Amino acid sequence: MGSFNTLKLKNCACPSCGHLQNWTIQFKYGDCWQHEYCLFDELKWNGNDIGVQAASIVLIEGINENTCQNCLIEEVYARIFVDDNKIVAVSLVEKNILFPMNSDGDYVVING
Ligand SMILES: [Zn+2]
Repeated sequence: MGSFNTLKLKNCACPSCGHLQNWTIQFKYGDCWQHEYCLFDELKWNGNDIGVQAASIVLIEGINENTCQNCLIEEVYARIFVDDNKIVAVSLVEKNILFPMNSDGDYVVING
């Protein structure tokens, strides 16, 4: 088990039932050292780095630690968009991304 970071979301809808609650999303990008981020935070680098610091637009997949308190769904994924190392958008989804076999991790650099 490696280190990861978390993204805290407040009052976001469950992708299955629409119930609003707080979510904690684990993801591996940037300096992976249990940093806690909120939406619109800048990513930290220069430690246990995963990813490309110079990349302009990146899509990262995260996974939720929570269970929905209403429908009890456990597998909730997050698509995290990073623009110039800032977390600019997150969507919660039920379907994970099928990354290509040769990808470096749970992220895709859209503009390097
Ligand atoms: Zn739900």
